[in-house]
Amino acid sequence: MGSAFVSRTYTPMDWNAAEGRTRILGYMHGEGPGSAWLRGLRAGHEYHLFGPRSPLDAGRATAALAVFGDETSIGLAHALASTDRAGAVSCCFEIGDIESCGQALARLGLEGATPVTKREDYGHVNDMGAALGAPIAAGASFVLTGKAGTIQRLRQDLKRRRVPAARILTKAYWAPGKQGLD
Ligand SMILES: Cc1cc2nc3c(=O)[nH]c(=O)nc-3n(C[C@H](O)[C@H](O)[C@H](O)COP(=O)(O)OP(=O)(O)OC[C@H]3O[C@@H](n4cnc5c(N)ncnc54)[C@H](O)[C@@H]3O)c2cc1C
Repeated sequence: MGSAFVSRTYTPMDWNAAEGRTRILGYMHGEGPGSAWLRGLRAGHEYHLFGPRSPLDAGRATAALAVFGDETSIGLAHALASTDRAGAVSCCFEIGDIESCGQALARLGLEGATPVTKREDYGHVNDMGAALGAPIAAGASFVLTGKAGTIQRLRQDLKRRRVPAARILTKAYWAPGKQGLD
């Protein structure tokens, strides 16, 4: 983030160590160091990158994958959809600005994703819960990332609907009031 003491975690959409190239999709949510860093990025700037690591082992999921998350999960969805794997990847994202996220999704070939508009009262998570139905019926494995509270709600929903724990992968990307989850 431009300082030796501050770091933030982003998901590589691809990683080419041989050529020294990677791509991330960062969400400028507000005023934290990560958001400020994204906003100030210009061609030619140089920073230190550490990684990659694999907090989610989606490679072990053989069937279809259903990615549920938010703006911060779109890069992961793109990475998973670009991987040479047997099952299809479907996506559902809770989103603040549908228009700008729609542009990002289209650019990344994810226009089939289901966007759910965030609501202050958090009622939109019920809509995300409703979207679990089709992938459950298809026997998909679930990848839940993004906001910790939403992951918790969706995981409870999946358990209630008897989806085996082995078919649920989770990684909280951020939580209100917490800084720089890793
Ligand atoms: C394994 C992993 C992979 C990740 N991959 C990505 C990625 O590919 N793209 C991406 O954009 N993010 C990704 N994130 C999330 C990103 O690291 C966090 O959003 C990070 O907190 C942003 O840093 P910041 O300095 O802007 O905010 P911080 O200083 O870390 O947080 C300040 C406050 O801002 C709020 N906040 C943080 N993130 C969000 C958010 N997304 N929406 C709304 N409010 C927020 C919280 O209340 C927090 O207390 C990933 C996180 C992890 C752990």
